[in-house]
Amino acid sequence: MGYIDAHTHLVFKETITEELMNFAMREWGAPREVILMGVKDVIRVLDDANIDYVGIMAFPARKLGTVKEDYALRVINAVRDYADRFAVIGGVEANELTIEETKYWLERQYEAGISAIKVHPPHMWLKPNAYRPEEGGLRQLELVYQFAEDHGLPVYIHTGTSAFSRARNKYGDPIFVDDVAVDFPRLTIIMSHVGRPNWVATAFQLIRIRPNIMADLSSIPPRRVLEYIPRLTEISDKSIYGSDYPGPGVYDIKANLQEFLSIPIPKEAIKKMVDDNPRRVLKPLSRNR
Ligand SMILES: [Zn+2]
Repeated sequence: MGYIDAHTHLVFKETITEELMNFAMREWGAPREVILMGVKDVIRVLDDANIDYVGIMAFPARKLGTVKEDYALRVINAVRDYADRFAVIGGVEANELTIEETKYWLERQYEAGISAIKVHPPHMWLKPNAYRPEEGGLRQLELVYQFAEDHGLPVYIHTGTSAFSRARNKYGDPIFVDDVAVDFPRLTIIMSHVGRPNWVATAFQLIRIRPNIMADLSSIPPRRVLEYIPRLTEISDKSIYGSDYPGPGVYDIKANLQEFLSIPIPKEAIKKMVDDNPRRVLKPLSRNR
């Protein structure tokens, strides 16, 4: 049995658009050959790293000028022959769509086989709790969480800053995730990046006290994870590993995993985060079989 990397931004030459290519070259700084891999090349890379499957972010980001709701469907089509190696994470931009459009895309993505939904507040320019009456009452966002809860899909919510030029970082504060945990008690919330670098204390506390919030450790360099989260072992039952590959600074998926595996904490805690926990909450595309 291998490992699971629950948070990547893998792009494939089969599905990449010109806008996404330009964005990746400009803002990620990743080498061209990493951005332009075919699905088969990626499988070889995963085999070499002993990774059973990866989660691929395929949510829309109009404000960044990259992709819309149909992108998740295209990624799923591209990886369908390797359904046990990929979990595709979709999503909708609740503040860009009507209620009807929101329902339409959630249904279509679910039927196609998404494994989770992503809400990216700094890239979508919305608070994670914008559905609350006192936060503007965005009904479309309530539908997203309701749909995920009803269909057993976990929701990743980005917390912490984003260095992309069009990101709005005021939306990265994890405190607004607290409302979602309270209002949707059956929903599994995966708090991406644990609020790093400046809101880790808030995120860590919410992960500790809210039974339905988990931690996604991606984009924190593994060798610095204990600097950011000294009490990591305490939340190892509710944490999952992710690399953020090939996002900024993470251009080697295997090296990142190896670094994570050598964090100086008990081996059982590490195994939970790279194997047991992600296997429990993030099912690959083949879950539909
Ligand atoms: Zn990411």
